[in-house]
Amino acid sequence: MAGLFVKKGDTVLVRSGKDRGVTGRVIAADPDTSRVLVEGANRVKKHTKVTQSARGSQQGGIVTTEAPVHVSNVQVICPGCGKATRIGHRRSDEDDNGKTHSVRVCKRCDGDI
Ligand SMILES: [Zn+2]
Repeated sequence: MAGLFVKKGDTVLVRSGKDRGVTGRVIAADPDTSRVLVEGANRVKKHTKVTQSARGSQQGGIVTTEAPVHVSNVQVICPGCGKATRIGHRRSDEDDNGKTHSVRVCKRCDGDI
């Protein structure tokens, strides 16, 4: 399993496209397509069907939503040093069951992410 180095809940910096320089929280990550949804980045207008509720209020029309961004276009912002960084990995210490886990580490400050 390859997995993604970006996870839901991370804060990332968008590095290319029209929203270059925008930072936002990852609201969804799809390992199959290697794409993530970043809050406030890569926003697109979508046309949806206008429906009318029983009370007569209209819903739909044009809504603005985020489009997925490929992970190669984002960098995780390290919560420790607050900078966009490359991600490394280390094995954690053994837990109570004698197992180790892969832990993401910041290449700048060596802190766990
Ligand atoms: Zn750091």
